[in-house]
Amino acid sequence: MTRYVFITGGVVSSLGKGIAAASLASLFKLRGYKVSLQKLDPYINLDPGTMSPFQHGEVFVTDDGAETDLDLGHYERFVGIKTNQDSNVTAGRIYSNVINKERKGDYLGSTVQVIPHITDEIKRLIIKGANKSDIAFVEVGGTVGDIESLPFLEAIRQLNLELGESKSIFIHLTLLPKIDVTNEIKTKPTQHSVKELRSIGIQPDLLLCRGKSDLNQELKNKIALFTNVSKNAVFSAKDTDSIYNIPLNFREQRIDDYIINNFKIKPKKINLKPWKELQSKIKGRKKQIDIVMIGKYIDLVDSYKSLNEAVFHAGVCNDKIVKVNYIDSETITKGNTKCLNKMNGIIVPGGFGHRGIEGKILAAEFARVNNIPYFGICLGMQISVIEFARNCINLSKANSTEFHKNTPNPVIALVTEWKNYKGKKIKADQVNYGGTMRLGAQTCNLSQNSLAFKMYNKKTITERHRHRYEVNKNYINKFKGSELIFTGISKKDNLMEIVEIKNHPWYLGCQFHPEFTSSPVKGHPLFNGFIKASINNKI
Ligand code: GLN
Repeated sequence: MTRYVFITGGVVSSLGKGIAAASLASLFKLRGYKVSLQKLDPYINLDPGTMSPFQHGEVFVTDDGAETDLDLGHYERFVGIKTNQDSNVTAGRIYSNVINKERKGDYLGSTVQVIPHITDEIKRLIIKGANKSDIAFVEVGGTVGDIESLPFLEAIRQLNLELGESKSIFIHLTLLPKIDVTNEIKTKPTQHSVKELRSIGIQPDLLLCRGKSDLNQELKNKIALFTNVSKNAVFSAKDTDSIYNIPLNFREQRIDDYIINNFKIKPKKINLKPWKELQSKIKGRKKQIDIVMIGKYIDLVDSYKSLNEAVFHAGVCNDKIVKVNYIDSETITKGNTKCLNKMNGIIVPGGFGHRGIEGKILAAEFARVNNIPYFGICLGMQISVIEFARNCINLSKANSTEFHKNTPNPVIALVTEWKNYKGKKIKADQVNYGGTMRLGAQTCNLSQNSLAFKMYNKKTITERHRHRYEVNKNYINKFKGSELIFTGISKKDNLMEIVEIKNHPWYLGCQFHPEFTSSPVKGHPLFNGFIKASINNKI
């Protein structure tokens, strides 16, 4: 029978609940238990797909095409599992399901209410998300005390009661601020946060205390006394220079043992080798290289979470510290590409909307002309095609219809705009804005002898997508015989997936998002190759 670990957060947001959940889950996975992870998000959006990355960070995409919270990226990277549509549940999804059932007449005669209808639906989706795993980690988004979180907290309170003794555990991640002037660690916010939880019927079993340093036993005793949590169940979640140290930090404190005892399950032997090896590889990295990321959402690094992680992983795999320099694409102009001069490699990441596009096109040109390794991801690939069309094959007005609806040279366009390509129309759902993209894992065939083939060392790959626009197939012939080649084609519908520039040290654009599947242990073939080429690009 599945055991549930419910993780809530208190005092402030962004304490790292997702990473804490992922780190704990990883310790159980490394003991051979089947684990699952799920994030409950209290906002009303059906999914984060339509939210600005400025507000909520990156939208993470699963194999089955769910647009989800970025915490799912941590789950996949730390635990090495694949999340899916059931792994991220929002209040919007819950309410939408309940309202649909109400319209169908499923609740005929009753008044539909938060308790029991909403909470029942939450519990149903928690159990579905657990997918018969041994241990299901369920992270409740938001901060205890928020109005929005209440139905979720009520649902996990009920579930804990219904499951019975030793079947679930409540973990509360809280903040212990330090007052620098007096050098004092303050416990009051934690006391209040737990009080708030207890007032809605949840007594945490275990506290993870985020702070600048480890807690001594005296402090643990004090927190235990005021929160009614066992002294042995107050643990430190100390700040660390790499998130990948956290599983080992938790293991050193035997947090996993405490949970296993609580669940009254037989402990299995743990294999910490992968984390230990990674830790020493991270520590052993030498010399730094500089990569530039030409983005739009550069003020919030969470907007490019998976991308940053993938670059970091590739650095680890290549024994190098990779510094990512963020440049706002709007600051790059014809007369001002100086900032790109000192960079070992250039990344143009994914993005939406016309703002900053011309700067990205200039960066792609700079990389092509100056033989600087270039990695264009999704929008970054479309930028490569536009740049090349404008500057190398006389399509001076080339653009994407996303940025110029009536461009005379729509080298990038919606499939529905290609109009009768070879007599066929490929359908795309154009009714709603949310959920109308090419999403999730799709298969792509690589040309032999291409850079892509060299990187992956296989003919067929599967990568995740999240975009609306495609290379316009009506223009493919115009590129024939030029330096720009299409070396990856989707199995379904033969869409252009990868472009390369011949006779360039490393220039590749891909229509998919390889960053979503990069792992800290192995990296990702394209990122590893790009970073390697950037290291070789001596400046
Ligand atoms: N805006 C582009 C599209 O919709 C690229 C999207 C992306 O980079 N994820 O096709």
